[in-house]
Amino acid sequence: MAQITCSFCGRNKKDVDLMVSGISAHICNFCIDQAYQILGEEDKNKKPGKTPKVKLKKPKELTEFLNQYVIGQYEAKKVLTVAVYNHFKRLLQKGEENDDIRIEKSNIIMVGDTGTGKTYLAKTLAKVLEVPFCIADATVLTEAGYVGEDVESILTRLLQAADYNVEAAEKGIVYIDEIDKIARKSDNPSITRDVSGEGVQQALLKLLEGTVVNVPPQGGRKHPDQKMIAVNTENILFICGGAFDGIGRHIAKRLNTQPMGFNKYVEGRQVDRANLLQYVTAQDLKSFGLIPELIGRLPVVTHLDPLDRDTLKSILTEPKNALTKQYKKLIEMEGVKLVFEESGIDYIVEKAVEYNLGARGLRSICEAIITDAMYELPSDDSIKELVIDAKYAQEQFDKSKFKKLQVA
Ligand code: ADP
Repeated sequence: MAQITCSFCGRNKKDVDLMVSGISAHICNFCIDQAYQILGEEDKNKKPGKTPKVKLKKPKELTEFLNQYVIGQYEAKKVLTVAVYNHFKRLLQKGEENDDIRIEKSNIIMVGDTGTGKTYLAKTLAKVLEVPFCIADATVLTEAGYVGEDVESILTRLLQAADYNVEAAEKGIVYIDEIDKIARKSDNPSITRDVSGEGVQQALLKLLEGTVVNVPPQGGRKHPDQKMIAVNTENILFICGGAFDGIGRHIAKRLNTQPMGFNKYVEGRQVDRANLLQYVTAQDLKSFGLIPELIGRLPVVTHLDPLDRDTLKSILTEPKNALTKQYKKLIEMEGVKLVFEESGIDYIVEKAVEYNLGARGLRSICEAIITDAMYELPSDDSIKELVIDAKYAQEQFDKSKFKKLQVA
């Protein structure tokens, strides 16, 4: 019988661990490994040269996508999707050299309580746009030369998200969280240097407006010997978000009303005191402590609504990857049917409201309720169905650390 040898390296079948045979050729495991590596190298080489395509999606299309994941927040969705749409139109306009009308960048600022979906909105948006996306935290930023991170570190993250493809990164989206934490602490900026406040706002200005920044590719402090990557921020969309705790007072003052008490009519409209954020304007951001130059570079201001019981309930059950759907899937893998009764869902929502945890708390409460079952079920074949009603939820919750925390 003819000897089987690798058609690539000629090794004999008995000298290799595995020989894969095709119609008229054979390949050994060594050559498969090598070919795989070559493919990887090729991929890497190809990336930097590729021009990332910008897909133009209309605001309504974008909103439809967002709706699958993010419940409510219609105002923010509308404002965000329009801003993003215009931003991409602006990118497409770039080619038209002799056009006198320059569309300006539309960076966005979102004001909303913690856990209302600011980050989630930005993240979901980046997913549909298929552009590099990163989240930066404004609280760790300091002026250059102080302990903390330089503002350039934001772009390091974006570069990493883009796999160091500079061209792609230059069309990316950056979400800067907790922008309210760098507000000026006092109205008199000259008393002491405000290292983490106004100084950072100043440092952010050029980044937001559009400039070429030298970015340390591995992050950390700038080091004289480190090779820098030049990134142009002109086409990077910046979305800033913050809870702006206490901004309600500034809004109320401007509207000439009190944060608490009876609703009042302003300019023929009734002011809804339960959700003052909906009236937020650039002026209120300035009163809160953002410098006018920064506000000027964040021309689109929007708000997120507080999450009421009904919204929390929808968040728990409706989105494409709603928590209840995730747990059902997890438990189904054990061959057990998981049923959330209405009363169980209501109990979870009630606890999230009681502990003031917003949407973020839904997950920890679900964990507290379902962990025992997830521990027992894999070793118990007799259980075929698990029903989470108010009684079960309460029993489990009372055993959990939440309850202990409350007692302490
Ligand atoms: P923040 O406003 O503090 O940035 P996040 O966006 O991080 O809040 O929200 C925390 C989590 O809560 C999200 O990961 C998401 O699962 C959930 N969540 C918050 N708001 C919504 C919403 N409107 N629709 C669906 N899920 C939400």
